[in-house]
Amino acid sequence: QAVLVAPGVKDRKVLAFKRGDASLLKDKDAVTGLIRSIIATSSPAQRSAFHVLDLARIVDLYRAWRRALPDVRPYYAVKCNPDPAVLGALAALGAGFDCASRAEIEAVLALGVPARDIVYANPCKPEAHLEYAARVGVNLTTYDSEAEVDKIRRCHPACELLLRIKGPDGGEARVDLGTKYGTHADEVVPLLLAAQRAGHRVAGVSFHVGSGASRVDVYRGAVAAARAAFDAAAELGMPPMRVLDVGGGFVAGGPTFGEAAEVINDALARHFGDLPCVEVIGEPGRYFAETAVTLAARVIGKRVRGEVREYWIDDGVYGSLNCILMDHYVPRPRPLAGTRPGEKTYTSTVFGPTCDSLDTVVTGYELPEMNVGDWLVFDDMGAYTTAAGSKFNGFDTSDINIYVAYSS
Ligand code: PLP
Repeated sequence: QAVLVAPGVKDRKVLAFKRGDASLLKDKDAVTGLIRSIIATSSPAQRSAFHVLDLARIVDLYRAWRRALPDVRPYYAVKCNPDPAVLGALAALGAGFDCASRAEIEAVLALGVPARDIVYANPCKPEAHLEYAARVGVNLTTYDSEAEVDKIRRCHPACELLLRIKGPDGGEARVDLGTKYGTHADEVVPLLLAAQRAGHRVAGVSFHVGSGASRVDVYRGAVAAARAAFDAAAELGMPPMRVLDVGGGFVAGGPTFGEAAEVINDALARHFGDLPCVEVIGEPGRYFAETAVTLAARVIGKRVRGEVREYWIDDGVYGSLNCILMDHYVPRPRPLAGTRPGEKTYTSTVFGPTCDSLDTVVTGYELPEMNVGDWLVFDDMGAYTTAAGSKFNGFDTSDINIYVAYSS
């Protein structure tokens, strides 16, 4: 068994990760077995909620991306899961990175990734972060307002721009980003002109159809709208655009990724077939991270009310399970011990550890009888989880150990 387990987020070194290292742990049973052995080999004092990060899954997903979208280079969206092992694996595999802030740029550069492999894909950036990007040579960023052009001119005069256009409605995404970002069609020309006046080259166009899009045909309209912006720039006599950024929104583990890839490939052929020099990139976050992480949380409390059971676990909506509120994650916890055929189940509520009643993980959920010290397992916990947790009530999300599994 070539599995390495490295606990401790705070003091864990970035893992040395070479191309082709990983290949194990392809299924849920293997991950469950690993969780059992982690618990069995840890001391009682160490037994608290932890994540298992399966790097083999990330390698598989990277290869699947390259097969399905050979002309689209993935720039991993660091915000989704900035774990150094995730970043290190993707850097070794050859991905670029989408960073939203100075800290994310620092984390990626620390891995030895060249600045040219980073897109600073936050359409509204603090001045100090932009000045940092200028110092380290991250020279490509997104914008969707005139004030941003003015700020970039002041803080990072050499920066090239991607015009972020609004993704089409109707993607039925888990998180709709179009309410906050992206130019409307009638704003494209004024914003191109604003960049031209400020002396910034608009290198291309970006969009994001929304995170976790379930209607993947929206990519078609988005690619067509991007082409219209390319044409508008050409009509204004601007230098030819050279980058198309198709953003994120991709979901692994179901049919939608393959369908999205087909739509994108088709739309690229139709709308960009005559522009073969355009470099196409994407900003997938969820696609790589979501299914690669499993959470094990320990039952730390129990209340019996007749036939109803209430449990407390040591992770909740202020910790890594914040994804329930922030990312519309639907928890379907399963007992680590499994459920025997015919075993009686109880209508159960599972609470998180803080004193807030909002800190509720599931209600009206059927579970067999559980006891303090038992464990619940949550699948698909890699996207927008530890990245967005808090220290509320003194339960610090960054204290959740992350065990990294890969082959050696
Ligand atoms: N790019 C940008 C600008 C984003 O805001 C996000 C998510 O919020 C992503 C990429 C990643 O999206 P996803 O996780 O859906 O792939």
